[in-house]
Amino acid sequence: MAFVLASNNVGKLREFSELFDSMGLAVVPQRDYGVLDADETGLSFIENALIKARHASDATGLPAIADDSGLVVPLLDGAPGIYSARYSGGGDSANNAKLLDEMKGFKGNDRSAFYVAVIAVVRSASDPMPTIAEGRWHGSIGLSPKGNGGFGYDPLFIPDGAKMTAAEMAREDKQRVSHRAKALKALEPLLKQAR
Ligand code: IMP
Repeated sequence: MAFVLASNNVGKLREFSELFDSMGLAVVPQRDYGVLDADETGLSFIENALIKARHASDATGLPAIADDSGLVVPLLDGAPGIYSARYSGGGDSANNAKLLDEMKGFKGNDRSAFYVAVIAVVRSASDPMPTIAEGRWHGSIGLSPKGNGGFGYDPLFIPDGAKMTAAEMAREDKQRVSHRAKALKALEPLLKQAR
C-alpha cells in the first residue's frame, strides 16, 4: 500500500520512507501525483499537519502523511511557532536576526526554546480518526549564530546538554535526537496499533 507524503522535501522523504518501508508500506511524494502545496491556514502545528495530509489524500484518493514543525519560544508567547518559516518575511538568516532582536537583553532560562514536530496520518481525506504523533527537542537560543550545518534556526539553537548549536552538530547526530526523530519514534507504535 502507498502513502502520499504531503511534502517534496528529500530529507523528509528519506526519513519517512525508512520507517514506513520497515512496515511494508511505500511513501510517495505528492509531487509525483501533481499535488500542489495546501494553504497552511491552521493555528496550531496539529491543524496544519492535518490540513496538509487531508489535502494530499483528497487530491490522490490515497492515505497520506504530513508533518508540520517549528520553533517555540515560551518567552515570546510561543513565537515563531507555526510561522517559523515566514517569521521575518525573509529567509533563514533574516528569521534568526529577528529572533535575536526580539530576545535582546534576556538571559538564562528566559532563552529556553524547543523545536516541535507533529506528524499526521490520514487513511482518507475525511478520516475521523487520524493518527497524530508529536516530538519535542528542548534547548535554548544562543546570543549569536554559530555553525554552517542544518537549516532554519539551527545556528541559534543549543540543545539541552550540548555545548554547540544544532548547526554545528553532525547531521546523523541531529537526526537521531531531533524533534522529527522523536515524532517518528512515537508514530511507529501508533501506526501498528491503528492497523
Ligand atoms: P516545515 O515544517 O518543514 O514547514 O518547517 C517549518 C520551519 O520551522 C522551517 O522553515 C524552520 O524555520 C523551522 N524548523 C523546523 N524544523 C527545524 C529544524 O530541525 N531546524 C531548524 N529549523 C527548523
